[in-house]
Amino acid sequence: MRYIWIAVFLFLEAPSQAAVRNVIFMIGDGMGFNQIHIAQELLEKKLFLTTLPVSGIVFTSSANNRVTDSAAAATALATAHKTNNQRLGKNPEGQDLPTLLEKFKKAGKRAGLVTTTSLTDATPAAFAAHAMHRKEHLLIAQWLLKNQVDILLGGGRKYFLPLLPQFKKQNYEIITSAQELSHILPLKNKKLLGLFHKEHLNYEIDREELSDMKEEPSLSHMTRIALQFLEDSPKGFFLMVEGGKIDFAGHEIDLATMTREVLEFDHAVQTAYAFAKKRKDTLIVVTADHETAALGFVEATDIPYLQGLQVSSQYMIQKLQKDSEGKFTEESTKTILKDHAHWSKVTKEETESLQEMSHDSIHDAAVVLGSLIAKRAEVVSTSLKMIQAGNTHGHSSAPVPVFSFGPGAQTFTGTMDNTAIPLKISKLTHVSFH
Ligand SMILES: [Zn+2]
Repeated sequence: MRYIWIAVFLFLEAPSQAAVRNVIFMIGDGMGFNQIHIAQELLEKKLFLTTLPVSGIVFTSSANNRVTDSAAAATALATAHKTNNQRLGKNPEGQDLPTLLEKFKKAGKRAGLVTTTSLTDATPAAFAAHAMHRKEHLLIAQWLLKNQVDILLGGGRKYFLPLLPQFKKQNYEIITSAQELSHILPLKNKKLLGLFHKEHLNYEIDREELSDMKEEPSLSHMTRIALQFLEDSPKGFFLMVEGGKIDFAGHEIDLATMTREVLEFDHAVQTAYAFAKKRKDTLIVVTADHETAALGFVEATDIPYLQGLQVSSQYMIQKLQKDSEGKFTEESTKTILKDHAHWSKVTKEETESLQEMSHDSIHDAAVVLGSLIAKRAEVVSTSLKMIQAGNTHGHSSAPVPVFSFGPGAQTFTGTMDNTAIPLKISKLTHVSFH
């Protein structure tokens, strides 16, 4: 009888004892339920990530705000602790919090960060840096070096320039183009730093129009190389992949651009799935840090119009700047809107609101243009005023989805707080925060 009980005990205990070896943590920045829904409507197809076998709902508030920014949200996802908006890898009192990535490194595993934004931007930074403010880019780049992250792929070259000699000394191979990325492996006993833009990578929707985008790899390309690079890690790995510009397009209420960013993030998820399904030791968790711009469709929304847009609002603003040599004229503004936003008539009010943005940043002008386009297409969103002001520039407190695949995936179901996700990963991998 005793042996039977031992056998039952072993049978019950066995599944939870085998630690998950590899974790691929994928974050669509600003990708709420509606960002996925809108992308599916505009693409007229189901996204792959919605077919992952397990799904749940995640609440995202930060320690000091109902509406989180990316720094506090990524800190919650990386450390299992809530913090104040703008803070990275630190609690509200300013003390450093250990991150999942740091704990994986201490356990002898390898680690990687992949993003379409600057590598010093809030989401990747929260996994391997500690800063009182998310804008401390040089400090964040120093932390990425200090933590010896084995593979770093993304933008932000200008923040790394002063540190490149140190990265080289620490055995990093440094590359700057998609072509180099394609041919860099195998890399024996070296780390890899890929810096593909001085700041953030460009939008996928503009790939054909922008000739210098040939140098930039897509998110799925970077994900594929990162997985090949990490595959042979003797003790397993932790890889964070961020679709960082879903959020940027959300802030610009640019739904056509956002859709293409969600689609490329979906390709990256598919790449991760192709890797994980061949093995039984790799967990994929796909989620978002928060929702951006409270986006939605109503009956009046002009979906065919949105489907017809071929370039981003940022691209239109850049072209307008080039064409008008610094000051947007009524004529050049009208031409851009007719050619690229496909408007047959443009009101004086519309051209004037854009002309006022002549001397603002491309992003700030794109926010105004995106809002004008969204208004014409009857898109529901947060107000332009709220985007231009506000602590998070237009994020919402809406819950976000989580999808998962692989060993332990079933634990990411039901309703949870964002801090529960790293705790579950820690439990499944036997890599403790303590
Ligand atoms: Zn944002």
